[in-house]
This record gives sequence, C-alpha cells and structure tokens, in this order.
Amino acid sequence: MPPAIAARPRDARGYPVLAITPWRGGVPDFAVTSPARILVCAVERRCSICGLPLGKGPVWRVVAADEAAVIAAEPGHVENAAGTVEPPGHRSCMLYAAVVCPWLARPNARRRLDAEGAGLHVPRGEARGAVGEIGGAVVAFDTYEFTVGERVEFRYRGLVDFLPHLLGEEHVQALRDAPHREVEPVEACPPWLLSDETAAQERALRYQ
Ligand SMILES: [Zn+2]
Repeated sequence: MPPAIAARPRDARGYPVLAITPWRGGVPDFAVTSPARILVCAVERRCSICGLPLGKGPVWRVVAADEAAVIAAEPGHVENAAGTVEPPGHRSCMLYAAVVCPWLARPNARRRLDAEGAGLHVPRGEARGAVGEIGGAVVAFDTYEFTVGERVEFRYRGLVDFLPHLLGEEHVQALRDAPHREVEPVEACPPWLLSDETAAQERALRYQ
C-alpha cells in the first residue's frame, strides 16, 4: 500500500477511505462518490484517492475494458473522447486501486455504461474479442480539464502511458516497483479531504 494511501482514514474494517468518498455520521459511504470532494480535487489538482497534490507530471486513471480496448485500437481517440466523471490520481494510487479493487478507482462507472459514458462507440462484434484480451488499463495523460455542471466532468489530453491488463492484479509488480517517493506524503492531506464532511462541503462552496 503506498504511504499516501496508508495515511488515509480507515473504515471499521480497516480499509482506507478515498479522498472522494463522502462520510455520513462518521461512516464512509463507499457506494457513492462526493461531487463536492471531486470538485475540490479537480480545482486543487489533488489525487482523488489519497488527496495529496498531483504535482506537475502526468495524471492517471483506471479505465474499464471497453475504453481500454478503444484506446489500444486507436490511441488518438482519447483526444476526441467526450468527458468522463472519472477523476485522476497518482500513478501508484491508481496501480493500487487496480490491484486491490478495480471499481475503487472508478466508482462512478459501472461496466457496460463506461464506454457510452465516456462518449465511446465500441463496435460490438469487434469489441467482444478485444475485451476478451483486455480487462481494463491504467492510463496516463498529459493534462486534464474539467467542467462543472451537475457533476464535474473531466477531459483528458495527451496519452502518455497505457498499461493494459486482463485482471487488475497484474499490476502488483509495477506497484511494488513504484517509486513511492512520487507521492511521499511531504504534506498532510488537508482536513477537507479527510473524514470531516462539513469541511469538504464548505471547501467545495468556494469553487462553485
Ligand atoms: Zn494519490
């Protein structure tokens, strides 16, 4: 577990709680993501998983099978892809999410809906085979932009790295080899991205 994730608040089972997971009555609600927290991360350029600054380098996401297949077949497609509600994070945070629990990194998306949500049109016949080979991917982009509407919508530009997998666990070695200093908690996560939901809501207000 990357140190930045190890430093997260935990639930009763000891599982780390994401920066974008809302808390209700002192308990994290893993079933949803918080639009307020996603907005704060987007504006402050923070990792959606650990809440620490993303820095100047590329940003990372975990993408589902359909989207990974499209990127593999046509890397330039991402430049034209429609927005997605999936926020970015650090490389090691996204590798961790892919290894431990693929949905953790992309809790807004639910399987088949992903490709359509991202504005991708996957030809069903061809996609089946491709999806059979690719279960998803950990992907890096140069930059992201976002718009604030009913939800925060992200657009990613400049494909930098593409690490496909059949199963997320395949990234375990890359995670072990990851230079953890890239997200070494040189600063503490701010209180508005920890378990204080009021602080998160108040912080988001200034960006709306
Ligand atoms: Zn992170």
